[in-house]
Amino acid sequence: MRAELPARIAAVKAKLGRPPGLAAVLVGTNPASEVYVRNKGKACDEVGLFHETITMPESAQERPLLDKVRELNGDPRFHGILVQSPLPPQIDPRRVFEAISPAKDVDCFHPFNVGKLALGEETFAPCTPKGVVEMLVRSGHSPEGKHVVVVGRSNIVGKPLLNLLVQKQKGANATVTCCHTGTKDLGRFTREADIVIVAAGREKALTADMVRDGVVVIDVGINRILDPSRPGGTRLVGDVDFEPVSKKAAAISPVPGGVGPMTITMLLFNTVRAAELAAASA
Ligand code: NAP
Repeated sequence: MRAELPARIAAVKAKLGRPPGLAAVLVGTNPASEVYVRNKGKACDEVGLFHETITMPESAQERPLLDKVRELNGDPRFHGILVQSPLPPQIDPRRVFEAISPAKDVDCFHPFNVGKLALGEETFAPCTPKGVVEMLVRSGHSPEGKHVVVVGRSNIVGKPLLNLLVQKQKGANATVTCCHTGTKDLGRFTREADIVIVAAGREKALTADMVRDGVVVIDVGINRILDPSRPGGTRLVGDVDFEPVSKKAAAISPVPGGVGPMTITMLLFNTVRAAELAAASA
């Protein structure tokens, strides 16, 4: 998918005189957030997107952050703005997301874009859910006409996934079941699924006895577990008990890999799309 971008980036550059640009705002020194933002920057470099990371201290107050976001809204070098989560407790993330111009909201966290997504209208689809759907479609496992069980209902993964999958559109049009901690007997639902997407944030939330033969499994989870055999004493795993489930699955996405790189790819796509829309109205 990333190989599709340089030609589109060149077309934007020809029209606007500058490449599409992404601004990332990082507040504090959360090590995982620093890695994510660094990886996003590397991916921008690889395809030829302009990017800049704005850092603010952990003690930053909401007002200067909102001022910075508004400044970026008006900066023509940037077509996409992302504010990395989690934010420190003194900052209300909703106010920050609402301050981002919907036209530059490449993470799709602004309520305006969330509403458009629910209505099935053209918008920047949120990166992780959109990456999941693209991975299914492009690997020959389109959700169309399938029963998809989504485990998780967070605002950044589960709910937007439901909104994407249920639309009467190509690459969607699925029968969707949403499970969460209020679900009694999760396995009863996942065993019925053609496709299971797990975004619970719990190691081994999906085990082999919970799926049928031939299932397609997408693992969104990222969990760091202790592993004394590794140099740092830990390693990353998903939400799925990978080895046993992979023996029953027709296809399964790995962790690390899989959804993580797809999320970054969709961020690049959304930034290029935002720049194309800006170029069209220039
Ligand atoms: P979250 O906000 O903690 O939401 C987890 C959801 O899973 C909640 O809806 C929760 O139900 C549900 N849940 C938790 N345990 C469950 C269980 N045992 N059975 C059924 N449902 C269960 O997490 P998130 O932000 O959606 O992220 C989910 C996972 O994906 C995390 O591991 C996160 O690190 C990872 N992630 C990865 C990427 C990527 O790029 N690869 C991007 C985003 C997130 P309730 O609503 O009832 O509490």
